[in-house]
Amino acid sequence: MPTLGYFTLLFILTLRYLLVAGGAFLIFWIWKPKWVAPRRIQQRLPHPEVIRREILWSFSTSLIFAAAGRLLFWAKENGHTLIYESVSDYGWWYLFLSILFYMILHDTYFYWTHRWMHTKTLFKWFHQVHHDSRVPSPLAAFSFHPLEALVEAAILPLLAFLFPIHIGAFLAFLTIMTFLSVINHLGYEIYPKGFPDHWLTRWIISATHHDHHHQSYGHNLGLYFTWWDHWMKTQDLEYSKRFAQITNGSMEATLQKAA
Ligand SMILES: [Zn+2]
Ligand SMILES: [Zn+2]
Repeated sequence: MPTLGYFTLLFILTLRYLLVAGGAFLIFWIWKPKWVAPRRIQQRLPHPEVIRREILWSFSTSLIFAAAGRLLFWAKENGHTLIYESVSDYGWWYLFLSILFYMILHDTYFYWTHRWMHTKTLFKWFHQVHHDSRVPSPLAAFSFHPLEALVEAAILPLLAFLFPIHIGAFLAFLTIMTFLSVINHLGYEIYPKGFPDHWLTRWIISATHHDHHHQSYGHNLGLYFTWWDHWMKTQDLEYSKRFAQITNGSMEATLQKAA
């Protein structure tokens, strides 16, 4: 596996933001396919100045993530990580399960550091920047203060030092993370009706779930899964109702009536 320098990593991360977050913004916010329009979560629009700042903060996040990536490459080359390259080392089962395992650990790390960053003293230093996006759009997915970006980046070397993962599984994990972060900030609900009520998908976080966090602060703190929110009683109890309103189009009806 070839090593990548800092600027190559920065280029890849910037391109990832432009393609995935920028691409989602173009599709959902500019192009707006017909089926998407009634599934808008909030009716307000973000202020253009907020969008401009989201893009700048996201670039600063890429600067930090690239440094974390460089550190990871250095650690791998020097034999400090458990990233492996031969599938036969642990087999195919482990390869697939390790992706899920990494997601569960990442979600746990995210939930607890997120709660910590919501404490009074830390909030304005670490997390206020992310919450400046009161009306999330895909462009807000990586809009973090550098201190928060450091916290978010730290999980990658931490996991790779502790748990074996195939390089391909690691890349898959990073790709899933990117797409789910963008989906959480989409501003539109793309999951099917009844998603929060099904026995399996009720454990998966949706755009409606995370959008509510940007407004309510104290609820819905998870990243991929809802279980920590359930266990720690930080789950928004109206989630299922809110989701149904958006996906049934009754939100539109209520708003039209009010107008
Ligand atoms: Zn967010
Ligand atoms: Zn938060």
